[in-house]
Amino acid sequence: MPLLEGEIRSSFAMTEPDVASSDATNIQLAIERDGDQYVLNGRKWWISNALHPNCRIMIVMGKTATDGPRHRQQSMILVPLDTPGVDVVRNLPVFGYQDQEGHAEIVFSDVRVPSANLIAGEGDGFMIAQARLGPGRIHHCMRAIGAAERALEAMCARAVSRHTFGAPVATRGNVQDWIAESRIEIEMARLLTLKAAWLMDTVGNKHARTEIAAIKVAAPNVALKVLDRAIQVHGGGGVSDDFFLATAYAHLRTLRLADGPDEVHKLSIARRELAPHITRAE
Ligand SMILES: Cc1cc2nc3c(=O)[nH]c(=O)nc-3n(C[C@H](O)[C@H](O)[C@H](O)COP(=O)(O)OP(=O)(O)OC[C@H]3O[C@@H](n4cnc5c(N)ncnc54)[C@H](O)[C@@H]3O)c2cc1C
Repeated sequence: MPLLEGEIRSSFAMTEPDVASSDATNIQLAIERDGDQYVLNGRKWWISNALHPNCRIMIVMGKTATDGPRHRQQSMILVPLDTPGVDVVRNLPVFGYQDQEGHAEIVFSDVRVPSANLIAGEGDGFMIAQARLGPGRIHHCMRAIGAAERALEAMCARAVSRHTFGAPVATRGNVQDWIAESRIEIEMARLLTLKAAWLMDTVGNKHARTEIAAIKVAAPNVALKVLDRAIQVHGGGGVSDDFFLATAYAHLRTLRLADGPDEVHKLSIARRELAPHITRAE
């Protein structure tokens, strides 16, 4: 299998420019059956990886039905990137940076693929998304913690080496407070990530939903706080590209949106916390 061997890459196409896609029931791309084929029409954006030279295939989420239960109208289907009618119209920048693998806007015009390309069955889109997105999210969190750790190290090294008003910046109370807070927050995020990973391994993704959502909010926010402090300690250099801090900040800021905005993860945590109280109150 070339994908598992790492010879080719894939991308996941769900988000659409025309609708609020953090509520995936809004997505509109049409997947219509026509004999032994499906025909796709619609527009997607922020499709990461799609501009990588080895990216060959997309998992596209769209609607195979426009009526029936709200979470059973969506399906996922495999679409090779070189299928006629697939048009990559642009690479979206992130705060002005062009990411190496790219974030594509893609138009689908009468794109035809064999019906066998449908993953699982019609209406299974949400079920597949819920099963697969957890492992992806925890990877983001691990990388965010790694970036935070690196930023703390850079902050300490810089604070020790720069002198102002007769003393190293590292001797200032506020800087020591930033360093200490950073260590505390990183360790909290790391332990919550480990707990989520342990639950995924031992009781499965479904039972780790609260922890996965919690860490998806906590880890990028912690990393951004630490990076922001490290940037401040680096002075003007911190926002330049002489250090990794500015690019890391831009990248990590997107993690508060990509794979679901903070607010949507908090909504799902709050719903589960409230559920037993609502049942009791009824
Ligand atoms: C760098 C990057 C890479 C990405 N990669 C991919 C990819 O590979 N594939 C893909 O399909 N998508 C990808 N995305 C898209 C990302 O998943 C969406 O941007 C995200 O899900 C939000 O959808 P939206 O942009 O349509 O925002 P909208 O749905 O319009 O939401 C806007 C804002 O509304 C607020 N909001 C939404 N719901 C609630 C609520 N219940 N309560 C309070 N506030 C709320 C949130 O603050 C949210 O940010 C990527 C995005 C970025 C920035």
